[in-house]
Amino acid sequence: MSQSNKSTIAVRTGIDADKHHGAVVPPLYLSTTYSFADFDKKRDYDYGRSGNPNRDILAQTLAELEGGAKGIITATGMAAVHLVTQLLNADDTLVIPHDCYGGSYRLFTSLEKRGLLKVKVLDLTRSESLQEILAIKPKLVWIETPSNPILRLTDIKAVTDVAAQCGALVAADNTFLSPALQNPIAFGVDIVVHSTTKYINGHSDVVGGAVIAKTEELGDELAWWANNIGITGAPFDSYLTLRGLRTLNVRLKQHQENALAIARYLEQSEFVSQVYYPGLESHPQHALAKQQQQGFGGMVSFDIKGELADAAKFLTSVKQFSLAESLGGVESLICHPATMTHAGMDPAARLEAGVGDTLIRISVGIEEIDDLLADLEQAFAAVKTTQSGSSDNAKAFKLSPAHTALW
Ligand SMILES: *Cc1c(COP(=O)(O)O)cnc(C)c1O
Repeated sequence: MSQSNKSTIAVRTGIDADKHHGAVVPPLYLSTTYSFADFDKKRDYDYGRSGNPNRDILAQTLAELEGGAKGIITATGMAAVHLVTQLLNADDTLVIPHDCYGGSYRLFTSLEKRGLLKVKVLDLTRSESLQEILAIKPKLVWIETPSNPILRLTDIKAVTDVAAQCGALVAADNTFLSPALQNPIAFGVDIVVHSTTKYINGHSDVVGGAVIAKTEELGDELAWWANNIGITGAPFDSYLTLRGLRTLNVRLKQHQENALAIARYLEQSEFVSQVYYPGLESHPQHALAKQQQQGFGGMVSFDIKGELADAAKFLTSVKQFSLAESLGGVESLICHPATMTHAGMDPAARLEAGVGDTLIRISVGIEEIDDLLADLEQAFAAVKTTQSGSSDNAKAFKLSPAHTALW
């Protein structure tokens, strides 16, 4: 599907479909219940947990954008992740990547502790891991590409090929790129998961999630569970998220144009030891990114030269980037994974995932790029001023952790 088609689908969905008043934008239906047309004659909707027009139009539009048969809208991204685990029984194994989203990792391993499923953690960027999948014969393989925070890529087709050989399903968390830039179903994935909180809503004002199934049958099973356990999304959240979705393509164009400019700026900076952005030719998986993505996204990470104190000085010196977790909103956010998003991780595992004390992650917004670059420049200058005042400048400039070898 071409980018322009996706734009048109998202912009036109539900437009001018109101038969009662000719409202151009789909009206918001808050009613929890719907009257029967006659005795034993249900209309399209009966009860708000089971179905709602605003939720359904968002679900159908996301399914269309992802190339799936059916979508389910959930209250949060984690509810979407949890929903997918309903497909597993106690004896089933779930393969997960070692650097998947922290909340997903916590949920999967907590479910395993209660004996609800079995978990096997693998580094899915390694070909040896793919061979291991054949031996494990899991029920489901979970992938997340690019990963958070150092944007490692998993070869989607390579994973779905081995999964097909051993009868495993594959689910992909596509939150980081959104349906505008990556469509895992086209590479053989069975289920796509989104935290719509991020790029899809895009304005940092709704928490939500979505699950898109490749087949009607799988979609029906997941929709049955969503209604059964009661995790479907609220009408107003769906209304706002659809409004966000309409501008997804145009927002992402600007996000990634700004992200590439920032990545290039950081790459030539004397204050930076390593930049992580799949759009850079220097990214070890740039070719794979071009192959399976339709863009490189708006997330950029880098290691600042020096140590924790330098990262802290930089993070508190920027003015156009808010020091905050989360991502995907129009405003630029900056975060320090080691003490924020990944603080809960065991320090050794954190280092292995590439999250050292000097790592900084940016969710690049759609502001004027010159303002963003000027702000980074003055923040580096502030760090330099502190360092030249220090008695041990050489120490302050020692190289960041050697985790680049890991990828
Ligand atoms: C934020 C996020 C989630 C969880 O979504 P919530 O909406 O916060 O519940 C899952 N996966 C990824 C990749 C995320 O970034």
